Amino acid sequence: MFKSIPESLNRIVILTGAGVSAESGIQTFRGADGLWENHRLEDVAMPEAFARDPLLVQRFYNERRRQLTSASTKPNAAHLALAKLESAFDGNVLLVTQNIDNLHERAGSKHLIHMHGELMKARCIACGETSPLCAASGIDIDPSTNCRQCARTGTLRPHIVWFGEIPLQMDDIYHALASADLFISIGTSGNVYPAAGFVDAANQSGATTVELNLEASATRGAFKYHYDGAATTLVPAFVDAVLQRNASDRPQ
Ligand code: NAD
Repeated sequence: MFKSIPESLNRIVILTGAGVSAESGIQTFRGADGLWENHRLEDVAMPEAFARDPLLVQRFYNERRRQLTSASTKPNAAHLALAKLESAFDGNVLLVTQNIDNLHERAGSKHLIHMHGELMKARCIACGETSPLCAASGIDIDPSTNCRQCARTGTLRPHIVWFGEIPLQMDDIYHALASADLFISIGTSGNVYPAAGFVDAANQSGATTVELNLEASATRGAFKYHYDGAATTLVPAFVDAVLQRNASDRPQ
């Protein structure tokens, strides 16, 4: 079914977006209403919003954390398949996610870059320390929360890259794209740059580029191949095809 898997395959870079977590019950961002969990992006995902109304922004991310840590939110078959790919593939797999949830790591992915930050971490705007948030010490950030490093109060913000801020580990990502044989983009609308431009970087380095999505993204035309469907169906099938190719390439 997947004629898109290149003959010689050693280095794979995967980009995931909100669509990979949709079937775990986490809403995507640009649904029909263009809102994120009933909020305008301008109100919750920009540094200006945090400066204007920090309480509203903290409450929004506190809610997202509660949802993420609820018993019903679990990695789905797509997250699990990508973790299996990393552990079973003979070459190198780098997973880059725009998602702020922790479902890839909970599924077992290790070679993972959270380019837009992590919901389960806080960052101190005074000392710069990034620290994990966990159920034992509390997952909410409020005006009375102390930074564990510098002990100041009211200086923690979500460790999220908001619009207008610079995504994380970009050098590492472009370095991996420059030598990739296969670039797979999964469940991302292609509206948010620089991630939406990764397909161009991969094409320039001669990688085979594949989009797996429920529907065409804004950058669909840049991909050599595309397959439409739900992530929990498409991703395990694609991963199995890659692993079969990998097994058939092994010396007998
Ligand atoms: P997006 O919401 O803009 O687009 C979602 C994409 O997923 C769409 O192209 C849609 O067709 C596709 N999709 C929806 N359901 C799918 C499914 N079941 N299977 C396969 N594809 C499916 O998402 P984006 O492009 O990742 O937007 C980027 C921003 O959204 C990021 O900055 C990210 O931090 C933020 N975000 C993250 C989360 C999360 O962490 N889970 C959730 C919402 C938004």
